[in-house]
Amino acid sequence: MSQQGYVAAPPYSQSQPGIGGFGSPNSSLHYGHYGDPNSSYSAPQPGVSKSTVPFGSSAPVGPPPPGAHQFSQPSFQNGPGTPGQQPHRFQGPPPPGNTGASYPPYSPQSQPAFPNAAPASSTAQLADQLNSMQINNYGPGPTPSPGHPASFQSPRLPPPPTQQQMVLPPGPQVPPPPPTSVNGLCTQPSLPPVARQGGIPGPVPPNPNLQQLPGQPPGPGYHPQQANYGPQMAGSQLSYPGAFPGGPAQLSGPQQKKLDPNSIPSPIQVIESDKAARGGQVYATNTRGQVPPLVTTDCIIQDQGHASPRYIRCTTYCFPLTSDMAKQTRIPLAAVIQPFANVPPNETPLYLVNHGETGPIRCNRCKAYMCPFMQFIEGGRRYQCGFCNCINDVPSFFFQHLDHMGRRIDHYERPELSLGSYEYVATLDYCRDKKPPNPPAYIFMIDVSYRNIKSGLVKLICDELKTLLDKLPREEQEESSAIRVGFVTYNKVLHFFNVKSSLAQPQMMVVTDVSEVFVPLLDGFLVDFEESRSVITNLLDQIPELFADTNESETIFAPVIQAGMEALKAAERAGKLFIFHSSLPTAEAPGKLKNRDDKKLLNTDKEKTLFQPQGNCYEALARDCVANGCCVNLFLFPNQYVDVASVGLVTMYTGGTLYKYNNFQLDGDSPQFLSDLRRDMEKKMGFDATMRVRTSTGFRATEFLGAIYMNNTTDVEMAAVDCDKAVTVEFKHDDKLNEDTGALIQCALLYTTVSGQRRIRIHNIGLNCSAQLADVYRTCETDALINFFAKSAFKAILSQPLKTVRDILVNQTAHMLACYKKNCASPATVSQLILPDTMKVLPVYMNCLLKSCVLVGRAEIPTDERAFHRQLVMAMGVADTQLFFYPRLLPIHSLDVKSDAVPAAVRCSEERLSEGGAFLLANGLSMFLWLGASVSPELIQGLFNVPSFAHISTDATSLPDLDNPFSKKLKHILEQLQSQKPHTMKLIIVKQREQPEMLFRQFLVEDKSIYGGASYVDFLICIHKEISQLLS
Ligand SMILES: [Zn+2]
Repeated sequence: MSQQGYVAAPPYSQSQPGIGGFGSPNSSLHYGHYGDPNSSYSAPQPGVSKSTVPFGSSAPVGPPPPGAHQFSQPSFQNGPGTPGQQPHRFQGPPPPGNTGASYPPYSPQSQPAFPNAAPASSTAQLADQLNSMQINNYGPGPTPSPGHPASFQSPRLPPPPTQQQMVLPPGPQVPPPPPTSVNGLCTQPSLPPVARQGGIPGPVPPNPNLQQLPGQPPGPGYHPQQANYGPQMAGSQLSYPGAFPGGPAQLSGPQQKKLDPNSIPSPIQVIESDKAARGGQVYATNTRGQVPPLVTTDCIIQDQGHASPRYIRCTTYCFPLTSDMAKQTRIPLAAVIQPFANVPPNETPLYLVNHGETGPIRCNRCKAYMCPFMQFIEGGRRYQCGFCNCINDVPSFFFQHLDHMGRRIDHYERPELSLGSYEYVATLDYCRDKKPPNPPAYIFMIDVSYRNIKSGLVKLICDELKTLLDKLPREEQEESSAIRVGFVTYNKVLHFFNVKSSLAQPQMMVVTDVSEVFVPLLDGFLVDFEESRSVITNLLDQIPELFADTNESETIFAPVIQAGMEALKAAERAGKLFIFHSSLPTAEAPGKLKNRDDKKLLNTDKEKTLFQPQGNCYEALARDCVANGCCVNLFLFPNQYVDVASVGLVTMYTGGTLYKYNNFQLDGDSPQFLSDLRRDMEKKMGFDATMRVRTSTGFRATEFLGAIYMNNTTDVEMAAVDCDKAVTVEFKHDDKLNEDTGALIQCALLYTTVSGQRRIRIHNIGLNCSAQLADVYRTCETDALINFFAKSAFKAILSQPLKTVRDILVNQTAHMLACYKKNCASPATVSQLILPDTMKVLPVYMNCLLKSCVLVGRAEIPTDERAFHRQLVMAMGVADTQLFFYPRLLPIHSLDVKSDAVPAAVRCSEERLSEGGAFLLANGLSMFLWLGASVSPELIQGLFNVPSFAHISTDATSLPDLDNPFSKKLKHILEQLQSQKPHTMKLIIVKQREQPEMLFRQFLVEDKSIYGGASYVDFLICIHKEISQLLS
């Protein structure tokens, strides 16, 4: 098997012409180019790629989500009197000890590690100005919570005291600092005092700054250019438009001193401040337009009338009153909806409302479901719909008197009157052909071509399934799962297996005509695992043997999906295909693919074709799958280009998950793959789903972004939806909103449960509206904004040149911030960069998005990797995009083993590393353990059980289980980082100054990218200049 990475693969053929179909490019915006990448960087050598490719994927180790709370008594009571039900009155928060928080309360004392050195007196003008900026809340030490409602009580104008003001003169006016001051400003990180109580004792070596000083030779084994990767001040050479900052051209002149990174807004500080202010507390959703804690803050959510932020997060919790205002701010109005989000065990699961044959109560006109936004009038006989204002009669069975406040006296006894989220039992009207659905089925489809057999992958899968099938998802009250299972293997042809329980041996039926796949057997194909256990076990034992002598290396792919879909259709079941596939499907069949990867297309107008599928086959297949409730999960094991943009398309459109294991090796990669498979198999999810988002008058949903399929402009079709999938919905005004009634949103998701019940899951949220721009800015949520911008950009690249998409992002960022400065800030000098408090880290996150491999075409980055990332992000919720674009970097050399706390993260910059330190970095997809060259031998011994740095093997993908507190603590942290993440992160061990470190450095997102992306500092200056131009 080839050990080479994609980089070393043979040149790929030209892409197919005429793929199109995604709309015409928008070329209205043209700024300069993104800057040339640092061409002197030499890519990782082929041959080292196996252990160093950081793009693993996979599944969490956490417990399965709690099942829906049953609430099916015909009396509809859920009040305190119902035995076994959680009382549905919200009085008093649970005791603080009951948080189940995975993050401890933030304590400033636990802050690592690198005291901020004051800038030297010889600071250049720019740095002086930066350091003198009005940092009301960025200095060291605790800061007011940016998102806490209490901080929003200030008068609208002048600006709230929390806003960020920075004195940043436009780049060209900055005199370059003297060349002798290179790095002079750089904060010298110093190791914290030895704080590892009970941990690895011993001295900590001195802590030289990683940054190479000029004139010093680079460290051994290091590429000489590495010094360029650190943050560098582009200074007067920055010219935007015309060039994206950070390109190597700007580094060719005399080196300039760096700005003090501590003086620009820190994502870590924002995260930690919110944790300190709101972590571990109860957050009750009782107020319209309330800004929830950040997605990085652990708290207990209590539903008191609006959907939990676990289900819905918004880009702003106060919509501008008019469309003119919305256009002026350019703030996207969007909600990120994760309808099946996991809730922790200490939060109440969704109640189930059952109105029997009557079904849910809905507004006659707009069809909105009964919810807290309906206003009861006329003594309770009628209600006014909060969405369309229509007056409806209350059905007699639902009648109830009103109290002196005009509220129904059963308000707190009915989830649909008092909660933001709940479920309805659907009637037959909501079922296909008005028949109750069958329980779903899972079909396992294994590529048994030569390579998969030889690598041992087929045997691994079969062995795992034998135990995993016992863990199929089931309703909480059920003893076994209702899900049926079926098995198919394939190479150039398809093999179906009859595993009927009455058979002594499984039977195989071969389908050789793959041009029009039919299902050769119905009876005995989809079976109950319990009943057919012995036949299935027999089959799984036999499959590896059956194909042991295969020479077949060609595979089909589209007919595999087709076969699975047809089988589900014939059995009248929704379901999920688990396809385990390895190669580009080149066998003669529908969906046959050519190798069309072409690096020459990078940075041209045709680059977008690399993200589009080849031909129409896969789109048509996706449409059919969605129509039949067939979700396609794809586990890819590629050794070279497999055209993820094509083979992954059906997965994306059907709400499936794509997993990818480059150059899969049984030894190192099995744990990651098996963990992914286990988590995916056990996921609670909904099948055959349709989502509809309704809004109150004056605005409506106009755009839906996610792993979804749209047949029309309003119904979001999802063959399946699981806990990790989120749909980002953009709203536009079509009239003036009303400040009194606010902006109301109701998301209704019709789906089939794992046991075959048809249900409607409802999430309601109310937002405020205001004629004051400051109100809009004050309630923005940057994490949700980045989720929207990422999905929006990743969709746009299908139809527009990447450069245009990047320019739009920069332009929109500048517009949003310029509008704030112009309208909400007190008169300031032109040189001040003023950021609204809620958006102070928007520039750094935006820069991370701009630098993502999806938006930056580079020959070193495999096309499949870019398509893979694109597809993952399209389905992500806010927590996942936050971590993906700004990874967590944890100093672990100073772990307090006596505390349960995960150490506070540090900013993703090389400056935060230290030679004597060890750092863990995770972004939800990749995880690195970086070891400084002078990390203490005690720490090495404690973690790896070897005597020295040189003895550490970087081939390992996990840490040994050792019986010492330090090792145990680190393992615990790894588990915490992994929990609730859709993909299992493979651990990559990186030693300072060894080649694989380059991979790790890509994740130090505040620094200039090795692929040419700007550093945070440079980007901030660039944005400041843009804003100044917009306002001049
Ligand atoms: Zn209505």
